[in-house]
Amino acid sequence: MTSKYQPDTVLTHAGRDPSANHGVVNPPVYHASTILFDTMDDLAKGYAERYAHYTYGRTGTPTSHAFETAVAALEGAHAAVSAPSGLSAVAIALDAFTKAGDHVLVVDAAYGPTRDYCDKVLSRHGVTVEYYDPLIGGDIARLIRDETRVIFMESPGSLTFEVQDVPAITAVAKARGVVTMIDNTWATPLFFKPFDHGVDVSIHAATKYMVGHADAMMGVVCCATRDLFMAVKIQAHLQGICAGPDDLYLAQRGLRSMAVRLRHHEKSALEVARWLQDRKEVARVLHPALPDDPGHALWSRDFTGSSGLFSVVLNPYDRKAVNRMVDDMDLFGIGFSWGGYESLIMPQSPDRSRTATAWQAEGPLLRLHIGLEDVEDLKRDLAAGFERLGKE
Ligand SMILES: *Cc1c(COP(=O)(O)O)cnc(C)c1O
Repeated sequence: MTSKYQPDTVLTHAGRDPSANHGVVNPPVYHASTILFDTMDDLAKGYAERYAHYTYGRTGTPTSHAFETAVAALEGAHAAVSAPSGLSAVAIALDAFTKAGDHVLVVDAAYGPTRDYCDKVLSRHGVTVEYYDPLIGGDIARLIRDETRVIFMESPGSLTFEVQDVPAITAVAKARGVVTMIDNTWATPLFFKPFDHGVDVSIHAATKYMVGHADAMMGVVCCATRDLFMAVKIQAHLQGICAGPDDLYLAQRGLRSMAVRLRHHEKSALEVARWLQDRKEVARVLHPALPDDPGHALWSRDFTGSSGLFSVVLNPYDRKAVNRMVDDMDLFGIGFSWGGYESLIMPQSPDRSRTATAWQAEGPLLRLHIGLEDVEDLKRDLAAGFERLGKE
């Protein structure tokens, strides 16, 4: 489903129907388990088409429908399935298309907990998981076996920011009948359109930019076709995966301002990234929108923007020095997640979560999320941090 409207307009209007709610602008929050039927005939009809009607809180309510419809419209999906976290969205997507004996190819730069799910759950269910080089492109053809069912992508990788050649990978997958999925959390549907690049299933940790305020967990799986959607929806249903109404409400509310927030995140993050490139403490900035980034050519071919998350590789400093810098930041918080309005800083060790490729770096890696604060204030906070880093 592609909208006749531009993304800003879709974000403002999709998934809302004030005329159905006494003219109230925002969709109401339905707290529901039981949904009543007038007659046994109605119940039978509702049950036969249970994903088209509201029959029980777990299979969908007007509140989940509002969020899913809005995201699907923005992404250009046939339909979407919400889940109580980004990780549960990853899990139902992978589960929907795999069974014992299958082989899945997962990008080596994937989000750590996605790898953990593959290594500790999928593999326990008899699925063989193989990791591949994020830069493999069309050469992924040589890794595809008869049993390969899924290719999982994350581009750019949300720790190390390699950009994948998504169209090259999906072209190979299509020829071999392999389902492709992408974790599109970094770009959001605003900056990368997976379905225009041949992807079948697009997954978002809506916890990040969709919710946008660090106050709810949410995931969503967007599906290109009805068949793909039914596979994911049935998986979610069978596993009892459903998101809570208040969090769904916060996610759909967050969407309304996502484009405006992202433009600010993008601009400030690029400004901080360029400023960091000139710091003597910094060996490299990993941000694909920078012209000298190795992923820049693919990024500018396929993406229409960049978000507020990127990493820097520092020159060699020991852990104590890095902690001195990070512990005393005034504005940058130490914490998991990202995509909220606030800035975050996190030392990370990519070498611990790679198997297909080796992580080569001059020094420690810091991942930054650039929030909506004044960018000069953020640079001053980082500059003071670098002073502490250099001090013995
Ligand atoms: C945070 C994140 C997830 C998981 O989302 P949760 O809502 O925290 O479960 C998945 N993928 C990426 C890239 C993420 O950053």
